[in-house]
Amino acid sequence: QAKRQGRSRMCYFSAELADKAQEYLTIESKLRRALENSELQLYYQPQVDLATGDIVAAEALLRWHSDELGWVSPDRMIPVAEEGGLIIALGRWIIEECCRTIRGYHRSSGNWFPIAVNVSARQFLEPGFTDELVEIVRFYDIPPSLLELELTESMMLDDVGKAIETMKALSFKGFKIALDDFGTGYTSLAYLKQFPVSKLKLDRAFVTDVHRDVNDAAIAEALVTFTRVMGLSLVAEGIEESVQHECLNLMGFRFGQGYLFSRPLPKDQFISLLETKLGVSFVRTIPPD
Ligand code: C2E
Ligand code: MG
Ligand code: MG
Ligand code: MG
Repeated sequence: QAKRQGRSRMCYFSAELADKAQEYLTIESKLRRALENSELQLYYQPQVDLATGDIVAAEALLRWHSDELGWVSPDRMIPVAEEGGLIIALGRWIIEECCRTIRGYHRSSGNWFPIAVNVSARQFLEPGFTDELVEIVRFYDIPPSLLELELTESMMLDDVGKAIETMKALSFKGFKIALDDFGTGYTSLAYLKQFPVSKLKLDRAFVTDVHRDVNDAAIAEALVTFTRVMGLSLVAEGIEESVQHECLNLMGFRFGQGYLFSRPLPKDQFISLLETKLGVSFVRTIPPD
């Protein structure tokens, strides 16, 4: 009896696995075609100076509306792209698209604007990643310091030595590195000291209740002190309410990002926002490298 139950349960699980595999295959082939047919888009979410409201940078976020699947979130498509290796071509497209945006904005406004781009583990660990980036920024003729690579702690775990080596090579070539979703991973302070990162992004998990949870508040405040001592820049992610904004501002956070300021926007809308929100004098203060 138990045996039979066990067997039917196994069938149930393998059917579920088969569904999962099927979903992967479906997304993967449609995503491959979407990339070829230019159906993918980057949206841009502003990063703002919490004291002044000025837009200081933007994060590029991948968007895909499939005719058959509807909106497919990055959290669903990136793992699929990683699994099948499509991430290499997709990642390259994402970085080139960011460079085209930086270049285009410079052409139309005369100003340089920095963009942060998410990099996946497989993309980051692929041999030749640094060389490829160097080649791309040369081609688009933009200062590498305008491209900020957002990495997560989890992608350092497999081979910390290699990760540090790659980060050093990237930073030597002038690229900026930010540690994304900070606080949710397992980076020890000993490692963090060796990472050539210039920015930490405190994960939304600590920001949501920062104004009413003593533990989150303590972590946030400690991070302000810590990043100041380490000479790192600090961004709070996922600010949705003005109480969070006020609280973080009082704590000494300089930068933030979240729906309170703006959702991620299609490129044209983002550029319009930039033009209305940014005094030219402000943009000029961003060094062209
Ligand atoms: P992430 O890099 O931590 O990006 C922040 C996510 O939080 C984005 O979700 C953004 O839309 C969302 N967000 C921003 N402000 C708020 C807020 O105030 N409240 C809430 N609830 N959410 C907010 P999204 O675009 O769905 O991306 C999810 C994750 O997928 C990203 O997390 C990133 O890890 C990954 N991702 C997105 N675009 C790319 C890409 O081009 N390449 C790679 N490799 N990964 C990407
Ligand atoms: Mg990010
Ligand atoms: Mg994040
Ligand atoms: Mg995230």
